[in-house]
Amino acid sequence: MQYHSTRGGSDRLDSAAAVLQGLAQDGGLFLPVEIPAFDWKTCLTYDTKKMAEKILSVFLPDIPQMDILVDKAYTGKFETEELTPTVPVGDFTVLELFRGPTSAFKDVALSMLPQLMTAAKTQKGMEEDILILTATSGDTGKAALVGFQDVPGIRICVFYPDGGVSQVQRRQMVSQEGKNVTVCAVRGNFDDAQTGVKNIFAACRDKEMPFALSSANSINIGRLVPQITYYFKAYQDLLSRNRIQLGDPVNFSVPTGNFGDILAGYLAKLLGLPVGKLICASNANNVLTDFIRTGTYDRRRPLYKTASPSMDILVSSNLERLLYLMSGDTALVAELMDKLNREGAYTVPESLLSQIQSQFWAGCCDDAGAAAAICRVWEKHRYLCDTHTAAGWAAAEDYVNQTGDKTPMVVLSTASPYKFPAAVLSAIGGDTAGDEFTQMERLESITGVKIPENLAGLRQKPERHTKVIAKEEMLDFVLML
Ligand SMILES: *Cc1c(COP(=O)(O)O)cnc(C)c1O
Repeated sequence: MQYHSTRGGSDRLDSAAAVLQGLAQDGGLFLPVEIPAFDWKTCLTYDTKKMAEKILSVFLPDIPQMDILVDKAYTGKFETEELTPTVPVGDFTVLELFRGPTSAFKDVALSMLPQLMTAAKTQKGMEEDILILTATSGDTGKAALVGFQDVPGIRICVFYPDGGVSQVQRRQMVSQEGKNVTVCAVRGNFDDAQTGVKNIFAACRDKEMPFALSSANSINIGRLVPQITYYFKAYQDLLSRNRIQLGDPVNFSVPTGNFGDILAGYLAKLLGLPVGKLICASNANNVLTDFIRTGTYDRRRPLYKTASPSMDILVSSNLERLLYLMSGDTALVAELMDKLNREGAYTVPESLLSQIQSQFWAGCCDDAGAAAAICRVWEKHRYLCDTHTAAGWAAAEDYVNQTGDKTPMVVLSTASPYKFPAAVLSAIGGDTAGDEFTQMERLESITGVKIPENLAGLRQKPERHTKVIAKEEMLDFVLML
């Protein structure tokens, strides 16, 4: 199976090389030239890890011994062996993606990616070390640190904006153990940290380096594919609860940022899984809502800081993959992406828009709307959800109210409510006094929902990474590693 760029460049490479390279030479994203045939029905009879193995193998056939890699990635790392449990809540089913080592949905993919990278490295006979460079606004950093901790042949360095992540997120990162990990605060905001990382990539392109640079974000196909599994898992759960018969469609509502999570749902559908509508849920940063409703993508607008920070995004990179998958037209994709770059906006042709609208629906809500959803779900169903999941829940309700569609609905839950204790406490009418650790304890005593173990122990963890640097110092910092 060959991979090529969504923008039509001349790269043709196998799946192992695509995982190592990350981004295509022309700036596009890698996708297989053809979506492979897949026995999705048999896949639904397996346990979660075996499902992951089959799905990963079909997309990444050049990476051998996938069963062993899946075992290494997931065994003993998640709260349950099913990895991503589902919970019936009212008329909907919640798919809990936050039962991993850092209580974020990114654990599902970032537990797997290091295994795929090391295997691809061996497969290609690559001898030099890889250095993973990541700028984080919160959740990605910790999930990547845990995923790559002590993985041989790979080092990781995470930059976060000083004062720009939550107390819990900061403590999660600065307490990180491992011989191959570095964490460093940068004076400035997230954009400064991210621009700094991009500059390092540019500065190192033509330099003799003791390592190859790579990143852990969701443009890498090796991070996207592991996310397909939980759509199968959720479908299997609905089957075994007799909510559906084999072949019945299921809708999914997905709190969306970079469009990776929801795109994995579309890939599941392309593999044959009976996915109905994919509901794209946004917060006040509703670029995607406007796009799916009108066909015009326009990033020329302010970026709001919201209570669901992982969805605070103006350019959703993985949307490019959807544009390619639906149009099959690399020249069109290249043209649209060029427009986005130069003018800040593009409009897709009418035929492409109607294709998108036949598969996707979009909704959004601001912080007040999300808080109201958290409160509603708690009071009606005694289920506690975080601010991102609340946006997904609200969009699912809006969809059902506006369309009357009775297809079973799965709402993807992307973070533990304990990741955002102040917002969740205030949504259910609790007192938000004290620091985040105090708030977590209060939330637990009010709701009786247990604090995940990895977060409960954080307050006591020693701080190992306390360096703070200026953004101009980032390159030197990396060269000293
Ligand atoms: C990353 C993240 C998202 C967005 O996922 P994408 O794949 O970027 O669309 C939503 N919720 C949480 C909690 C996240 O960490």
